Amino acid sequence: MLSRNALRLVPKATPTSTRALSFDLTDQQKQIQGAAFQFAKEVIVPQAAKFDKSGEFPWEIVKQAHELGIMHPQIPEKFGGPGLTSVETALVVEALSYGCTGIQLAIMGPSLAIAPVFLFGNDDQKKKYLGLLTESHKNYAAYCVTEPGAGSDVNGVKTRAEKKGDKWVINGNKMWITGGGFANWFFVLARTDPNPKTPANKAFTAFIVPGDTPGITRGKKEINMGQRCADTRAITFEDVAIDESNVLGKVGSGFKVAMGAFDLTRPGVAAGAVGLAWRALDEATKYSLERKTFGVPIAQHQGVSFLLADMAINLELSRTITYKAAAAVDKGSRSSYYASVAKCFASDTAVKTATDAVQVFGGAGFNTEYPVEKLFRDAKIYQIYEGTSQIQRLVISRELLQKTVQTGLAGSIE
Ligand SMILES: Cc1cc2nc3c(=O)[nH]c(=O)nc-3n(C[C@H](O)[C@H](O)[C@H](O)COP(=O)(O)OP(=O)(O)OC[C@H]3O[C@@H](n4cnc5c(N)ncnc54)[C@H](O)[C@@H]3O)c2cc1C
Repeated sequence: MLSRNALRLVPKATPTSTRALSFDLTDQQKQIQGAAFQFAKEVIVPQAAKFDKSGEFPWEIVKQAHELGIMHPQIPEKFGGPGLTSVETALVVEALSYGCTGIQLAIMGPSLAIAPVFLFGNDDQKKKYLGLLTESHKNYAAYCVTEPGAGSDVNGVKTRAEKKGDKWVINGNKMWITGGGFANWFFVLARTDPNPKTPANKAFTAFIVPGDTPGITRGKKEINMGQRCADTRAITFEDVAIDESNVLGKVGSGFKVAMGAFDLTRPGVAAGAVGLAWRALDEATKYSLERKTFGVPIAQHQGVSFLLADMAINLELSRTITYKAAAAVDKGSRSSYYASVAKCFASDTAVKTATDAVQVFGGAGFNTEYPVEKLFRDAKIYQIYEGTSQIQRLVISRELLQKTVQTGLAGSIE
């Protein structure tokens, strides 16, 4: 039973302003967000349609982003990076994604390969491989986990690594690898214990594979539905021999290394989806004020304004949970739960918001001369890469059930 005095614990003498939960960005965060948004509006927006049509990789924009210091945001200053926090990174990704999520992915593509090195690499590995990326915009990295036969079910990875003398020799096929066409190094997950009964947390090892190692074949650039200027390839490893010093983490701990990266990167992917939903709302709202039917702007029809209101509700919620998931990383309490809630909700919101933006535009929404058709195509991938929306729900439900059994209360209170 709650004591009558329980609420007296709250120090009433303290002014309300200092007891308030703050959702405000700091001046520095606003400055970073402002610089990224200016870059998005001035550099990305005017060129987005061109790169979407050609599918060409936007090297010149990547170069400018690198010079501005917003590429590889989370690489620490010690290794030549800007050393941004996860919240600051989310602000940058969101702002760039307002401009174009394909170009944003071209700029931020290496982040998924960086994360496991950042988390599990030793100082020499960080210096060499993270340092390489900060040296030049041309240096790139790619994360190779998915295979033709294994995406969601990572335990099904068939790529093998065998110890032969003082080398590890890798054989296998990877699929849908972002940046695979020109990566200078690959993060590779391979099975090192051939026994199919060995549990996932002991059967795999993570490797850093230099891109110029003999035996690596890069497939053709895949033609995707959206985010078309980003680079996606199949990568084949045939007797690729690498040194012991290229093992990332411990032999046998690769599953943890590969999956651990997602707690760090999923808030960033969520931020991309938020940026896309933001752009869709912006385009749809402006159009609804200009386009007239039955003698009034369509914004004045409740059927349209309620669509816009729902878009705004979901945008606000996905932005808030994304910042919360990023803040959890910065606090050091890396949380799969919040990372998955943010990634799932923001991705579903991006798809719904882009779909509704097409609806607000009517026939023009279906046409490539108008911006929302591209947003509609670009949005879909958020429900697929870095774990599908179904896989996020698996993570969320697993964490929810575990916590409920432990505490006797479902739903979190912090
Ligand atoms: C453009 C693009 C870029 C990518 N970049 C990379 C990259 O850089 N590196 C990398 O390693 N991978 C990358 N991927 C791969 C991506 O992560 C996988 O496509 C994704 O994880 C899904 O795997 P899958 O395609 O094998 O689908 P599958 O795993 O075959 O899933 C098919 C469907 O079944 C559902 N499903 C599967 N299992 C379950 C379950 N247990 N419960 C409920 N539903 C389930 C899925 O949600 C999905 O809807 C990329 C993919 C694309 C398209």
